[in-house]
Amino acid sequence: MFSYRHAFHAGNHADVLKHLALIACLRHLTKKETPLWVVDTHAGAGLYRLDGDQAATSGEAADGLLRLAEAAPALGDTLDPAIAEYLALVGQFNRPGQWRVYPGSPFVAHTLLRAEARDKLKLFELHPSDSKALAGHIAQMEAGRMVGMERKDGFEALRSLLPPPSRRALVLMDPSYEIKTDYARVQAVLREALQRFATGTYAIWYPVIPRPEAHELPRKLKTLANTARKPWLHATLAIGQAPAVPGEIRKQGLTASGIFVVNPPHTLKPALASALPQLVQLLGRGRGQGHVLESGGG
Ligand code: SAM
Repeated sequence: MFSYRHAFHAGNHADVLKHLALIACLRHLTKKETPLWVVDTHAGAGLYRLDGDQAATSGEAADGLLRLAEAAPALGDTLDPAIAEYLALVGQFNRPGQWRVYPGSPFVAHTLLRAEARDKLKLFELHPSDSKALAGHIAQMEAGRMVGMERKDGFEALRSLLPPPSRRALVLMDPSYEIKTDYARVQAVLREALQRFATGTYAIWYPVIPRPEAHELPRKLKTLANTARKPWLHATLAIGQAPAVPGEIRKQGLTASGIFVVNPPHTLKPALASALPQLVQLLGRGRGQGHVLESGGG
């Protein structure tokens, strides 16, 4: 445990999918005046350097944020609005034309939450270094009383927060799945959360990898949501395999990931229906590229 550091993966295609979907959800949920809580059970370090050692070692942002940022200007008006909004939000953390800092989910959410509406952001991160870095970034951003952060098991901590006082919340569960029990825990925690707070929006990210637990997760989440009679949405983005270059050993890394949302805002499906094909067009590397968008329940 604790060998996963998100700094190696910040801004990759999986972050693009997750953060674009998070932005689309929050845009809708922050339209109502009543306070919204965002609970990020696996927050990470919050801010990442794209020009630092860890990001440079993996180079993963090159097949994610950086490729989108490079392609976007030429697309003009044909750039999908959700992709444009994602790039604009990440751009707020950077000087124009420079992509050096990547905001993780805590700062994506923080950008969209409203102090005047008394929205709250509850962050949990277990890793000793990342929780320290997160606390430092919160202080540096002068995030104020809106943000609470604790070095705790986010799965456990969620229990005590549901239902939130305003009865409006989005919960992001974004484990690293470093330990395979995370797959079962996500399901158990979602089942219990839906009993405590049935109307919350729950977004769960997962890697699409050849591992039985990962393969079965979306099917199990669908069953769980259907049993609870809750609407759900499932989206995946696969950038596929880059063609082999003779003599070059290139690590392909993660090629696809998915996001499963229970009680999605009604605006999420049309936003993703428009964004996903363009994401595949811009980020697709070859064999296996594509997307899935399906919904049900309710
Ligand atoms: N949500 C972040 C984002 O989008 O920017 C990325 C999070 S990263 C994929 C997963 C994080 O969960 C890692 O930083 C890891 O240290 C942390 N973690 C692992 N198990 C945890 C647990 N039980 N509770 C809270 N954090 C945990």
